[in-house]
Amino acid sequence: MSLYWLLICHGMMTLTIAVSFLCGQWPIFQGTPVSCIHRFLTFGAYRHFLKFVGVVCGDRGKNVVFSVEYYCCERANPILQIVYLAIIGTTYYIVVKTSFSYIPGHYLSEVHRYASFFGVAIGIFLFLLTSFSDPGTVKAENVSQYLSAYPYDNMIFTKKECPTCKIPKPARSKHCSLCKRCVARFDHHCGWMNNCIGERNTRYFLAFLIWHFLLCVYGTIAIGLVLAGRVEELQIVHILIVYYGVDNSVSSLAPYIAQWLLDAHNTQILLMVFLAIVSLLLAGFFAYHANLCLTNTTTNETFKWQDYVIWQKKLNEARAALNVNTTGMNTEGKPQASKCKSFFRRFLPQETEVVVRRNVYDKGFFHNIYEVIFPVSTRASFMPTKSKSG
Ligand SMILES: [Zn+2]
Ligand SMILES: [Zn+2]
Repeated sequence: MSLYWLLICHGMMTLTIAVSFLCGQWPIFQGTPVSCIHRFLTFGAYRHFLKFVGVVCGDRGKNVVFSVEYYCCERANPILQIVYLAIIGTTYYIVVKTSFSYIPGHYLSEVHRYASFFGVAIGIFLFLLTSFSDPGTVKAENVSQYLSAYPYDNMIFTKKECPTCKIPKPARSKHCSLCKRCVARFDHHCGWMNNCIGERNTRYFLAFLIWHFLLCVYGTIAIGLVLAGRVEELQIVHILIVYYGVDNSVSSLAPYIAQWLLDAHNTQILLMVFLAIVSLLLAGFFAYHANLCLTNTTTNETFKWQDYVIWQKKLNEARAALNVNTTGMNTEGKPQASKCKSFFRRFLPQETEVVVRRNVYDKGFFHNIYEVIFPVSTRASFMPTKSKSG
């Protein structure tokens, strides 16, 4: 039974570390152990590691670490692409090695041997499609089309020029320092894809997320059915009741069956835990990005709105402080009322809280989905200047 608890602890730890690393900076986790683990994983661990390298290898060792860091984080590189291919390849290989000999089985027909292969192949195809597709590069030839497709909202996007590309910067675009280009409707630079996610490939990225989520759920259920089939075929329940005198109830049988599975099929159980955790993470990512698409926002714009709201609040606070000072100067004879006012103002809804986030690009549910599936630059109306003049 100790192995059983070890497995649960392993699953919980993996989940905590993954959630802390990926979501620890979210406001809901502020002041919780999740945000502490996130800080440690993102900054603390690296700082301690650098100190350790400095003590053991001196400045030369530290320089090597800085060079590796520069290559991995400051330059486009295929490291995470290779890691993805290694993960999906190894996982599928382990599934084939451990479970294919039981297919067809009691619950699964032979078709699942081929279905799983096609599932993985489509997953890899979507990965390659997202990785190597144009995210919507803004060039001199198409910049005027992008400028008219995405007008400036004069809140988070104002008229600017990209200092690197030396072309006007359309609203919603961003210059990616890793890809060294301006990307229209920029969402984020995805290290896993070694590519930007933007106007033209957000649809592939979403398809990648939902497909891998479904693939992980399918894998978890299929392995579960393989194991259930083994329990059925080997008549484990019958043996436990007749030969070991275990009560014929779920609560009595479950621990014995779990122990048998952990002894006989521990690799498959580990795979199930792994796939279930990954499917949860992918579901979270997909829900986040689907919500962005439905509201016609991007990850980049989410951060820009946060900055805009903070800036507007500060501006309103400064204005309010100026008003208080002016009122105080005008009512010098009534200092008491002014103190009361300022005391109660703390508990009243502040002017600063009514900063309006008006997303001019949000044109309704169906239009927003349409814009992601059929990006503006793929439409006939979006003709590059060269072809128009030529
Ligand atoms: Zn640029
Ligand atoms: Zn990029």
